[in-house]
Amino acid sequence: RTVFLTGATGFIAQNIVKTLIESDYNVVGTVRTEAKGDHLTKLLNSEKFKYEIVPDISVDGAFDEALSKHPEATVLLHTASPFFYDTTDPENDLVLPAIRGTKNIMKAVTKFGKNIERFVITSSDAAIYSAEDEQDATKSFDELSWNNITYEESLTDGVTAYYGAKSFAEKAAWEYIEKNPGFPALTAVNPVYVFGPQAFDSEVKDVLNVSNELINSLINLGPNDKFEIDKGGFVDVRDVAKAHVLAFEKEETIGKRLFLTNGQFSSQMMIDIINENFPELKGKIPVGEPGTGPEHIKSLGRVDNSKTKQLLGFEFSSLDKIVVDTIKQVLAKKSK
Ligand code: NDP
Repeated sequence: RTVFLTGATGFIAQNIVKTLIESDYNVVGTVRTEAKGDHLTKLLNSEKFKYEIVPDISVDGAFDEALSKHPEATVLLHTASPFFYDTTDPENDLVLPAIRGTKNIMKAVTKFGKNIERFVITSSDAAIYSAEDEQDATKSFDELSWNNITYEESLTDGVTAYYGAKSFAEKAAWEYIEKNPGFPALTAVNPVYVFGPQAFDSEVKDVLNVSNELINSLINLGPNDKFEIDKGGFVDVRDVAKAHVLAFEKEETIGKRLFLTNGQFSSQMMIDIINENFPELKGKIPVGEPGTGPEHIKSLGRVDNSKTKQLLGFEFSSLDKIVVDTIKQVLAKKSK
């Protein structure tokens, strides 16, 4: 079987492609430039991977040519979407590309994806709750919850816009299948903060992708530096990759949202794990206030993803394993 995947160079996507190839799927990935495609091809080193160039997902008809060349594709994974918070133009940098990218790939499937049977969209917990509600301990969320932020509200700043963008894009996908009854079966994957190793050691850069940089930035601090306490949900990128595969392999996931989380973290928990597991960093990085992490996360909204865990049927990795594996890979790169 052939899987057509958008945004193949991304942190999560590279892990998905690796998992797909290990499971014997052929993959056609979209990338923005030939240089990026050639780079990924070299890393994957597999005949099972091919790429097509799609420079900008938000341009009308962006995917038409790429998808029309691959009638053999039976599965579509849409992961490409801007993920950063730092912008002075949230509407054009985050909101519009997320919505247009989703509509463009769905229209391309209608026109050219005649053999596509399953469509999986990489959504986010940002489509489940707003940035504000996520931090509200009186609220509870599950697979059926929605971030109902308005378009106007979403344009306030980068973080709010990212949350809005993901909820508008996922809503656009469900609306599209309602209006187009012949469309392939849709499943959404809604991860919380995704952490864990890059699919390839060589992809470790001084600054990592947005989510992993929350961990990486901690080891770049000096022993007396203060750090901001970030908190939220966590899940391992390797579990997220596995969930994308099960999302289209299983029948029971059709029409569902898979809320991927294995609990909540605070930066203090991460620094505690790093200090406990990497003696070589002791005294070089902050300790903060060890053991206070569980106190921090009491202020977060409650989440229940038991339906998702039951549907997927595998155990998610612990925060300890995720942080240790992420830092190990970073330190190995630094020692080279
Ligand atoms: P990355 O930034 O690593 O990947 C994003 C991918 O989308 C890249 O391949 C990027 O290409 C591509 N892309 C972005 N904008 C455009 C555009 N306008 N035109 C063409 N390609 C574009 O992020 P992640 O891997 O972390 O995120 C992947 C998906 O997962 C996103 O949909 C994100 O919203 C979602 N997600 C991520 C979470 C996380 O914690 N990491 C949590 C929940 C959801 P290029 O690199 O060339 O710019």
